[in-house]
Amino acid sequence: MLEIRNTERFGKVIAGALSKIEQTTKDASTKKRWIRAIAKAVVEIEQNGSFMTWQEEENSLLIWSQRSNQIYSANGICQCRAFEEGSPCFHRAAARLVRLYMEPDAAAAVERSATAEEIPYLKPTVEIKAERIAGIRIN
Ligand SMILES: [Zn+2]
Repeated sequence: MLEIRNTERFGKVIAGALSKIEQTTKDASTKKRWIRAIAKAVVEIEQNGSFMTWQEEENSLLIWSQRSNQIYSANGICQCRAFEEGSPCFHRAAARLVRLYMEPDAAAAVERSATAEEIPYLKPTVEIKAERIAGIRIN
């Protein structure tokens, strides 16, 4: 049973995941498929959280798929057909969202980056977008 109680934090995790896809995925169709996978993951977590279990020690999300009647254990990998075909799947997207949501440090990092958007000089170096820092190019 997976229940998202802190929807504000979960919202930030989702926003962070989408912006990461935007920043790191160059191929347009892969980007589109991951965004779709994330969107489906969000819906599945909200509606079918009772069929999911977060396994803290394995860092993986158990998902009982009602469609295939299989149980998938997703972290970076998955056992579903989409993964076999090398496609993004919502299981992996869901596992990543839940991991970030569950990890206190990661949640704090998401929190920090949300604050950093308002205060650009606090933004971690890796995420800096030159054009956003008051017009001064720094990388
Ligand atoms: Zn999968």
